[in-house]
Amino acid sequence: MYGMMKALNRMASLVFPPRCAVCGSVMAERDSPLCGRCMERWLAECAEYDGSPKADIEGVKRSYHLAFYTPSRMGERTVADTLAYSMKSGGSGSVYPFLARQMCQRLYMSAVDGRCEPKDEDLRRLAGFFDIVAYIPRSRKNALRFGVDQSGMLARGISELTGIPAARLFVNASDKTQHELTEEERRENMSKLRLRKGAEDEILGARVILIDDIVTTGATVSSAASLVASAGASEIILTAPFRTRGKVQKHGEKRDPSERA
Ligand SMILES: [Zn+2]
Repeated sequence: MYGMMKALNRMASLVFPPRCAVCGSVMAERDSPLCGRCMERWLAECAEYDGSPKADIEGVKRSYHLAFYTPSRMGERTVADTLAYSMKSGGSGSVYPFLARQMCQRLYMSAVDGRCEPKDEDLRRLAGFFDIVAYIPRSRKNALRFGVDQSGMLARGISELTGIPAARLFVNASDKTQHELTEEERRENMSKLRLRKGAEDEILGARVILIDDIVTTGATVSSAASLVASAGASEIILTAPFRTRGKVQKHGEKRDPSERA
């Protein structure tokens, strides 16, 4: 699907000139979803985030993110917000490889060599540091509603760039979206994330990269990590392009409908 989308994008760009995924301006280059001006804004946002790995999610050794995400649609949208919405709606296919590459570069600079700006061929070296790439799936309801599992798309992108095999470890049996639930129901709902039958064999002793799209409280990640840990993973790290800015929203505040905890 990932490769097919890339091919379709390439064909489409012959007929329709590529446009910036953020501001919509026509671009000469089609390697990036962003025009030069939006790319500059994006790099400033990444610098503001500070890409150093965090160790503040229970069950996860380190987590890596690219930029802040602001759930409220009020005020001026950042490039990160626009990319996140575009990713959620399954919009621009070029957003996935773009984010996947930057996630890999961030991992490389932490795990392999922090001194260099890694090129694509360097990213293959990550395969010596991690054994599987696994993504935290959306609920069935959201998968149907949005038609695409963005964490899955990112995981495939990362697998393609690094050569680390992608594994489908989880099933998400929840049939409600998180924002419709009370705190207690939310915990209950998260417990519906299960390991797929036979996933234990892949996990035992493995160094696992978990992929999510947007991390807010880290609760979903923690519940996924505890499943993977109990199946005997030797190391668990997380990478998600976006981390929600500021304090965690309380239940009842308006949330983006596709957002998870
Ligand atoms: Zn632009």
